[in-house]
Amino acid sequence: MREMLLKRIDIEHVEPCFADESKIRLIARIPVDVSELMPYLNAVLANASYVGERSDAGEERGGTASAAVGGGDRPALTFTKGARLVTVYPRKVTIAKADDIADAEETLAWLCEKINHVHERRNEITPVYEGKIRIKPLDIYGLLPQTNCRECGEQSCLAFALLLLQEKHPLADCGPMVREEKYADKLRRLREVLDALGLS
Ligand code: SF4
Repeated sequence: MREMLLKRIDIEHVEPCFADESKIRLIARIPVDVSELMPYLNAVLANASYVGERSDAGEERGGTASAAVGGGDRPALTFTKGARLVTVYPRKVTIAKADDIADAEETLAWLCEKINHVHERRNEITPVYEGKIRIKPLDIYGLLPQTNCRECGEQSCLAFALLLLQEKHPLADCGPMVREEKYADKLRRLREVLDALGLS
């Protein structure tokens, strides 16, 4: 008989997206722990990035992207579905850039199917544990204006970079970055990095 792990994933919290307030970002609760299935999902999703279990507490204190992605939750699997950015944690999912609730529910139903699929077929799938994203605050700092102007309310661009990775600031809080044409190229690259991390 067909074994179904998940019936549905319910939305718990919704808010406007940082980067585009016409879109929403949300948190949904997975009713079972899917940690063990995440490397299998990583194998079947073409554009996924898997961040495994924490292996080095010192590295964590240094502020890897893993920490940023998971906000302390690991493992984490991030991927895009159209314009949406989806991050799966052991017991929750975050989606950024969903059009609306109906769009988010459709994405969650699709994810539910994918999780059930890898659960049922995991003996036939080779799990993939690679695809770690390793972005540090200094990498983000390199893409900021580096003027330490304090318009964002922080003492320095490096402090802002750290807080950006911790989701305590939206990128829009760096006024010069979003306002001044001379930073347009850096802004585009930084948005790409934040998109890949599910932080936009
Ligand atoms: S507003 Fe931007 S440029 Fe100014 S200190 Fe903050 S991060 Fe740096």
